[in-house]
Amino acid sequence: MLKVIIKKVKQLLCPPATQDLELNTKNRNAAIEAEHIQYGPLNLADEEWWKRASEHWNTTPEVAKESKCSNCVAFDISPRMKECMPGSVQEDGELGYCWMHHFKCHSARSCYTWAAGGPISEDEKSIEWQDKNKGQLQEGWSEKERQTRKDKCANPKGFTMKQFCKNQKTRSKKGEKKN
Ligand code: SF4
Repeated sequence: MLKVIIKKVKQLLCPPATQDLELNTKNRNAAIEAEHIQYGPLNLADEEWWKRASEHWNTTPEVAKESKCSNCVAFDISPRMKECMPGSVQEDGELGYCWMHHFKCHSARSCYTWAAGGPISEDEKSIEWQDKNKGQLQEGWSEKERQTRKDKCANPKGFTMKQFCKNQKTRSKKGEKKN
C-alpha cells in the first residue's frame, strides 16, 4: 500500500519522462534527431560529434567540450530530482533531468541548445523550473497513438520503434513496467 502511495506521489511530483521509459526514449530520440538540438555524442568517445559541435559554435573541440550537460542551465540534479530517478548507475558521469527537452540526459553529453549557468542542484530552483514548464511537459502517449504504434511492432523500423516494441514486451501488467 505504502509503495503504491509513493508511486502515485512521484507521478504527481516528478516530470512524466522520469517515470515513463517510453516517453523518456521518445523525447531523447527527438533531441538526438532534431537539427537544432543534436543531443550527443551517443558514444562518449566519439570525437567527431565534438568536432561538429565546435563548428556549430564556431570554436575548437577543446572549448566545445567545456559545454556539457553537467554545467548546462537546464540540467537538474537536485536532491528531489534524484529521488525521481533513483538507482541509475552511470559510467563517466551521472544522469540529470533536462528541463529544455524533457528527458534524462547524461552529464558528459551536450547539445546545440546548451546554455551556461548550471547545473540545478537545489530543490528550490528545480521547483521553479517545474513551475515554468507547467503545461509543456508531455504527459505521454495517447491510447490511440499507442495502439497505432503497437500495430507496427510486427515489423518495427528505426531505433525509436524498436525500443517501443521492446518495452511492450517488458511490461509485466497492463500499464505497469518492470523498469
Ligand atoms: S541539459 Fe542542456 S546540454 Fe543537456 S540536453 Fe538539456 S539543454 Fe542540452
